[in-house]
Amino acid sequence: MNKKTQKVKVDEIAEIRELLREYGVRATPARITVMQELRAANSPLSHSDLAEKLVPLGFDRATVFRNLNDLADAELISRAELGDHVWRFEAFDPDRPAGEKHPHFVCEACGNITCMEKLEFTPVSKRMTRAIGHITEILIKGLCNDCKAAGAV
Ligand SMILES: [Zn+2]
Ligand SMILES: [Zn+2]
Repeated sequence: MNKKTQKVKVDEIAEIRELLREYGVRATPARITVMQELRAANSPLSHSDLAEKLVPLGFDRATVFRNLNDLADAELISRAELGDHVWRFEAFDPDRPAGEKHPHFVCEACGNITCMEKLEFTPVSKRMTRAIGHITEILIKGLCNDCKAAGAV
């Protein structure tokens, strides 16, 4: 590890500690590690995905599970079910209003999930959705490029 990445890592842990404190959640090593993994991921992760990464670091599956739910209950991370009955977790976008989630694209053939962070509602579509109280999930389904090329339906 060179000096630069080490510095970034220390800053990130400090930032996560600060964030946890702000939300009134105690900054335990398991919670900090879960937050780091979710922030580094580029798509939502399931409990199994996280356990695969964290069990080798010495955290047990139950601890990972409990902490994921604690962080989701505190609204530090989002919890989503994207049509396959698996809960997946991800860090909230730092540049979106608190609690606002981005849409996800799910490939119906392979189940791959793509975050669509840059997709925004236009002022007109925002007006159209005014009757809706609270959106929990925006899901877009289709085929990813690989599955499309392979001719999956
Ligand atoms: Zn696919
Ligand atoms: Zn996402």
